[in-house]
Amino acid sequence: MSAEQKKTSTEEQTYRLRLGLLSLVAAIVTIGLKFQAYHLTGSIGLFSDAVESTANLVAALSALFALWYAARPADQTHHYGHEKIEYFASGVEGGLILVAAGVIAWTAVGRFWEPVMPESLGIGLALVTLASVINLGVGYTLVRLGRRMESIVLEADGQHLLTDVWTTAAVGLGLLLVAWTRQPWLDPLLALLVALNILRVGMDLLRRSFDGLMDRALTDRENARIRAAIEAELNPGMAYHALRTRRAGRQRFMDYHLLVPGDYPVARAHDREMAIGEAIRKIIPGIEITAHIEPFEEPLAWNDHIAKTQARDVPG
Ligand SMILES: [Zn+2]
Ligand SMILES: [Zn+2]
Repeated sequence: MSAEQKKTSTEEQTYRLRLGLLSLVAAIVTIGLKFQAYHLTGSIGLFSDAVESTANLVAALSALFALWYAARPADQTHHYGHEKIEYFASGVEGGLILVAAGVIAWTAVGRFWEPVMPESLGIGLALVTLASVINLGVGYTLVRLGRRMESIVLEADGQHLLTDVWTTAAVGLGLLLVAWTRQPWLDPLLALLVALNILRVGMDLLRRSFDGLMDRALTDRENARIRAAIEAELNPGMAYHALRTRRAGRQRFMDYHLLVPGDYPVARAHDREMAIGEAIRKIIPGIEITAHIEPFEEPLAWNDHIAKTQARDVPG
């Protein structure tokens, strides 16, 4: 890594930390506004909205920790770096969101038996509208930049804030309906709908976290391009198999077996391997490649368990 690249990546890490901090501040401010709105109105719908924002705050805290931890270089105990912490964080976020959905549903069901008519709805709605404007601005920024920087944590944080805006808008409209119809049971119904929506978001985060922690392969398209790049660099009498790919946060990894004629000098085999690596990094910059070189004529080289489980592998 050149000095220039090193500087850029440190700058990007600082930038990511700042964005994480921004999501934290947005969460604290919006929670304050929403609980105040709940306090003034006694509306369970607004309570559900405030609980959702609290889940976002805890999520933002775990995201900050993840960003700090992921930024640490590989060390004695973590030879592959620390990027995977992001999947752990999004798993925790997903779990917390499920808990929040449960709390809201539990409280809302109780309100069906003891309906309470919300009061002071005007000031309450004004407060949550202000909160929504903040969430919209910060959430949109985080999703856009998170995607560009391939940070699942920042993107997830932004998505929460944006989901929050929809939630608040739906609850706000529902409360206008409550005020108009004077039907208090509409309030817990709104809260239940919010809980369902939160449940969906939480499940999605858990699924993505699962994929990352379980070393899901790179996309089919990326794999196809890697295969094409390898095949283009093979000399006659060479082949490859046992290609495996995965990613951890922004870092992509691959390993494969390169079969060369048994009488190739080490330097020549290494030369081919380097050429293949260069071709692949042109397509997927920064991918970490591990190659295992084997003699083409050796039957044992064809007999390994990875190659055997991959039906798609064909000798080049
Ligand atoms: Zn080497
Ligand atoms: Zn092999």
